[in-house]
Amino acid sequence: MNEHPRVADSEPLEGPRYFVRDDDIGSLTPALTNFVETFIERAIPVSYQVIPSQFTDECAQYMLEKARAHPQLIEFGQHGLHHRMVLGRKLLKREFGPERSYDEQFNDICEGKRLLRLKLGADHDIKLFTPPQHKFDKHTVEAIAAAGHTLFSAASYPTAHHQTAYALGRALGLSSIRHHGISYHGRMRPDAKLLELSISIAVDDGRKITCSAQVLEAALKRASAHTNKVGLMFHHGVYADAPDELTAIIDRLSNRPHAQFQKLGDLATA
Ligand SMILES: [Zn+2]
Repeated sequence: MNEHPRVADSEPLEGPRYFVRDDDIGSLTPALTNFVETFIERAIPVSYQVIPSQFTDECAQYMLEKARAHPQLIEFGQHGLHHRMVLGRKLLKREFGPERSYDEQFNDICEGKRLLRLKLGADHDIKLFTPPQHKFDKHTVEAIAAAGHTLFSAASYPTAHHQTAYALGRALGLSSIRHHGISYHGRMRPDAKLLELSISIAVDDGRKITCSAQVLEAALKRASAHTNKVGLMFHHGVYADAPDELTAIIDRLSNRPHAQFQKLGDLATA
């Protein structure tokens, strides 16, 4: 008789878990439908971050239809309210930071949450928040939790200078250095009751592809040296003129051995 029973086949696989985040959901475009449908075909779940004031009824209807048909593959998060703000005479793409009071930030976060509930319905109670451009301060984080969110996603890059800055900020108990967030990826933040699960890899930066299919494997390796919860960020709009590159990237992901992709919400409770 074997005194050392073998690990059962159903034992969870070792190694990192992955999540995919697609940001800037607003209107229904061919780039969005192509993105959504390609990920569904490969059965890779995606967390879609919606900009509430730009979210059209047509897009909401499409996304809800896909979520109903594939509940395991689609979830929604809140991505600010407008994804922009005016500072002096400058129009910025970020929306939060120390230039705005707690009340101003809280009111916008609540308004965004209200719009999402209106468009997505009570079945999709949004608990996940991603600050536009990953820019925020202590008040943003406090306001997100006060508005009823429990999960926070920004950036936690594995490069040496980012890791050094995060470690320094964490040692000092900081939320941010000005509007540059300090990452507490994989743990509860000290500034509010929010679990942070942030992306490690920006597959694109919102304007262009920054991590092609060719270099993706190396990026995944670098990221998994720092964390066993590896997030990848996309902006579907970037692939409007590069659908083949998107397919190549998704193929690389779906061909990974032992790859375990989860929705952010599921990863948070795993
Ligand atoms: Zn964005």
